[in-house]
Amino acid sequence: MGNIVAIVGRPNVGKSTLFNRLVGMRQAIVDATEGTTRDRHYGTTDWNGREFTVIDTGGFTVNSEDIFERAICRQVELAIEEADSLIFMVDVETGITDLDLTMAELLRRQSKPVLLAVNKVDNAMRQTDAYEFYSLGLGDPVTVSSMTGSGTGDLLDAVVASLPADGPEEKTDGTTIPKIAIVGRPNVGKSSLTNALLGEERNIVTPIAGTTRDAIHSYYNKFGMEFHLVDTAGLRKKQKVTDDLEFYSVMRTIRAIEECDTAILMLDASQGVDAQDMNIFHLIVKNRKGCVIVVNKWDTVPDKQSNTMKEYAENIRRKLAPFSDVPIVFTSVTEKQRIFDALKTALHVCDNRRRRIPTSELNDFILPIIEQTPPPSIKGKYVRIKYAMMLPTPTPQFAFFVNLPQYVKDPYRRFLENRIRGEWDFSGVPMQIYFRQK
Ligand code: GDP
Ligand code: GDP
Repeated sequence: MGNIVAIVGRPNVGKSTLFNRLVGMRQAIVDATEGTTRDRHYGTTDWNGREFTVIDTGGFTVNSEDIFERAICRQVELAIEEADSLIFMVDVETGITDLDLTMAELLRRQSKPVLLAVNKVDNAMRQTDAYEFYSLGLGDPVTVSSMTGSGTGDLLDAVVASLPADGPEEKTDGTTIPKIAIVGRPNVGKSSLTNALLGEERNIVTPIAGTTRDAIHSYYNKFGMEFHLVDTAGLRKKQKVTDDLEFYSVMRTIRAIEECDTAILMLDASQGVDAQDMNIFHLIVKNRKGCVIVVNKWDTVPDKQSNTMKEYAENIRRKLAPFSDVPIVFTSVTEKQRIFDALKTALHVCDNRRRRIPTSELNDFILPIIEQTPPPSIKGKYVRIKYAMMLPTPTPQFAFFVNLPQYVKDPYRRFLENRIRGEWDFSGVPMQIYFRQK
């Protein structure tokens, strides 16, 4: 399961440089091929097999009406509230500033793990300058150079060690009732959909506190469907939500995705798919959660023809490629069009995510296909796939046993995935295919 690691610190210490090193570079390549913009301040990374989400708190614009220092401290407070672990970055060139002291105090007063990263330690001479940061009272500083990357491995070791123990990949709370989250940009209609679906019945909801985190899963049994709605919004009731809206909504989205089995990614029909929507989509896929795209406000699309919906869907699927096997539902919450469809589809995707194919059935189907279209031989070597099986994992993962696994390339992986998707219904569910030595 993913965890959230937030990078905090005053401006110019090097937060975004570190962020780019951890997430951005790799993501930039992905984005370039997918044609989305790179305006992102959060993303997934992994270290020693541990995946987590990194957030650059400095990337979010602060409320300009707030005084500068107050606004930055507010973001630190929000990061403390939401993250599992914090990297507090300071700058060896400037030494300790007043703002560092204020932040250090905020960080000392709470119980989440904090890694003190002294940045811009580009050479050995600066190493000794880093000792002054012991006085912040946040333990041993880790010296890094975000620019060159030196020391970042040690920092990541410490980050991974600070994260809560890796529980089972899927949280098991003794129930298999599907968990649905409704995510998307502000104003697309998320709360309208929630209200339309659940309406006044909301008061019969029994909230159960999440197992490891504070998210609330509200249990519903309506319309003959039984499900949990992941509701992280409830967390904020104590505090006003006026400031740091973007920052908060991003944190909330990440959390909701981590908590759910299937996410309903809601779009506004009048606005199409933008980079922010794609960021959320990638988070869902990265976290191996089910996904349904709901295009809301369909009532606002003028001059609809018989093929408008089909063309709209095709256009979205092109953007989602290569993972385009995702259900798309067109709704109008205000006109109560297809809103139950959206929910039903999400529950169907939850079923798909749990689908298990018996080994014999899988091999009976896939081995003849492999025989017909084997992986291309490379450097005169024949690549032989002996058999396949679905792994006993909570999400669909397939292992193909091969004599030379390193020679099976991505196009062939996609070929196998498409054939599997053609035979069994895995729509809305990301799938992993591994090649293993046999
Ligand atoms: P942020 O405001 O905390 O996100 O800081 P930035 O990542 O934008 O970095 C601020 C400045 O510090 C930029 O000019 C960076 O090039 C520079 N910088 C970042 N990391 C390092 C480093 O490790 N060494 C040196 N010498 N400069 C760095
Ligand atoms: P959220 O921020 O995603 O929770 O969005 P809201 O549910 O608060 O909705 C934002 C605005 O869009 C509100 O004014 C809603 O009345 C409006 N809205 C929601 N669904 C629809 C729809 O299907 N059609 C139209 N025309 N407006 C909608």
